[in-house]
Amino acid sequence: MTAPVRREAVERELGRARGARKMLPWAALTAIGGAAIGLAAGGGVKGAGALFALGLVFALFVWTIAVPRCPACGTRLPSGRTRLESCPGCRARFE
Ligand SMILES: [Zn+2]
Repeated sequence: MTAPVRREAVERELGRARGARKMLPWAALTAIGGAAIGLAAGGGVKGAGALFALGLVFALFVWTIAVPRCPACGTRLPSGRTRLESCPGCRARFE
């Protein structure tokens, strides 16, 4: 039996993930917009590709942190609307 996890820690984690998820479309836009600007600024396809890759790395990073994880074991938590009572990975109770 794993020690219970404080609910505040879980809520904080869910809130953080939600915030990051809101940033995701913006991050994807940055990748496309950056490439478009690079192309328009005369950077050529190579320059645009580099900017796009940079934006893509940023978008991937945001996507990674947009996943809520159990504060105890790091298991991916379901981000549905239902109130989580325990971790599906380590069975730690959230209280
Ligand atoms: Zn866990």
